[in-house]
Amino acid sequence: MIRSPAGSVPSPDTQEDILALFRRTGALLEGHFQLSSGLHSPQYFQCARVLQYPEHAEALCGRIAARFRNESVGVVIAPALGGIVVAQEVGRQLNVRSIFAERRENELILRRGLEIAPGERVLVCEDVITTGGSVEEVMKIVRGSGGTLVGVGAIVDRSGGAAGFENSYSTVTLKVLAYKPDECPLCKLEVPIETPGSREAFHGKAPMSAPNHRT
Ligand SMILES: [Zn+2]
Repeated sequence: MIRSPAGSVPSPDTQEDILALFRRTGALLEGHFQLSSGLHSPQYFQCARVLQYPEHAEALCGRIAARFRNESVGVVIAPALGGIVVAQEVGRQLNVRSIFAERRENELILRRGLEIAPGERVLVCEDVITTGGSVEEVMKIVRGSGGTLVGVGAIVDRSGGAAGFENSYSTVTLKVLAYKPDECPLCKLEVPIETPGSREAFHGKAPMSAPNHRT
């Protein structure tokens, strides 16, 4: 059987449409933020805020599923935590198993009796690829289990494509600007800074509230 190398991705949404959806759901915030790395940024991205809506998760993960539909994926795997919802939805749409690796003493491992069978074709999914470190670790698990790596699917590639995985697809590529505090132009303008990880960070900060997130 001759198979095309990759499924075609539905194209009604442009990258700009997807970014607009992120903004609408509060997944992409603009302002002045202190990132967990300590760097300052005019943008903060929190993928869970768009994926909390089933219809958005279905649409975004559907693009990943479409891209890999013709690649005989047998199982989808994600690194915990953010990738799990992506892998689950992609697996659902491809009608294959979805599993996850979780961190224990700094190492990602398969637990709970979750397994990859030797020869099984495995798609790695993630919500946000920043450096690609977690995806790399999951790829090692796939190889160590004797699985065949199909590719990598993500909602957002924040490395701007720099992670450079073979046969990878992300619904959007987003290069987040980051500055050392003493070089931050927003600090120089004395724009108040927020720390999005903190509990009060999103207090009233989301661009809109949940009931009218649909357009
Ligand atoms: Zn700053």
